[in-house]
Amino acid sequence: MRDADLELVHLTKRYGDTTAVDAIDLKVPANSYCCLLGPSGCGKSSTLRMIAGHEAASGGDIVFGSTNVTNLPPAKRGTAMMFQSYALFPHLSCLDNVAFSLKMRGVDKATRHKRAHELLALVAMDTYADRLPAQLSGGQQQRIALARALITEPQIVLLDEPLSALDPFLRLKMRVELRRLQQQLGIIFVHVTHSQDEAMALADQIVIMNHGRIEQAGTPRDVFNNPATAFVARFIGGHNVIATPQGDIAVRADRLVLKRPAPGTNGLIDGTVRSVEYQGTYVQLAIEGTDGREITATADEATFDQTPFSPGDPIAVSWGERDVHRLSQAA
Ligand code: ADP
Ligand code: MG
Repeated sequence: MRDADLELVHLTKRYGDTTAVDAIDLKVPANSYCCLLGPSGCGKSSTLRMIAGHEAASGGDIVFGSTNVTNLPPAKRGTAMMFQSYALFPHLSCLDNVAFSLKMRGVDKATRHKRAHELLALVAMDTYADRLPAQLSGGQQQRIALARALITEPQIVLLDEPLSALDPFLRLKMRVELRRLQQQLGIIFVHVTHSQDEAMALADQIVIMNHGRIEQAGTPRDVFNNPATAFVARFIGGHNVIATPQGDIAVRADRLVLKRPAPGTNGLIDGTVRSVEYQGTYVQLAIEGTDGREITATADEATFDQTPFSPGDPIAVSWGERDVHRLSQAA
């Protein structure tokens, strides 16, 4: 099963009148890291829970390798869900938390403890084996939760917003760790997040969902450099969605050409600089077009310093045809 792909075919979830997941099709290749990305309520968790078998599909299929697992119980699917840290048993040591599912399967104590130590070592927590969860930091609890999920030797690890409870520093550290583990184990990770940064950093494939549908699936580079819809362009950020007579286009904020208007040298959009923000490695301008359109432009500091703009300055904004991404209507 190690080289098995995970496939969702017209997968659907309805709760009464609400269609949470609307006939999605998705292929997650073997040994890959997939991030489901989208705003709150778009159907990410419902999709993940159907893959885990914690929620019944209302329609469609979940196929893993050559097996249709749609109606299999969770324990028979080869999946493991990594729950949030609060799902650790507070009265059990880290070792016993990690060994718990082996105990449920009747594995003898010596064997399950040996295996639990191996998993603790994998997440660099072996020296904490005898501690209780309350004696650990949030990041350490996440590692224990991960070790506990991995002890069943899953072929697919499912993670629902696993990093959202951590402070920014730990979040960065843990996401490197998750990527390392996925590559080391050579299995599929499906990771739900509403953070663009997290998905960009981790994923082989980013799946951008909106209203229960997939707007776009592709590599981080694909999605960022070639957003398919206005929703994707706005959601991943760094782009302007601009209405033109030929339809909506996306142009990256860092690819705009900014000039001072002069007779005969107007831009594609002329307007006024509303604000100038220093962002460290770049400068960000908010521009209001004379037609009311709003444009965000970024420039690196050196470029900006050659042509500095201040709030209130008139400005002419242009872009090259090769930086234009034509957007299709929302799925
Ligand atoms: P996400 O994880 O992307 O925030 P969810 O999959 O949790 O989205 O929810 C998708 C939609 O389904 C939302 O409109 C949500 O209110 C609804 N929903 C989720 N779970 C249930 C449930 N158990 N009963 C009824 N509606 C639900
Ligand atoms: Mg959710």
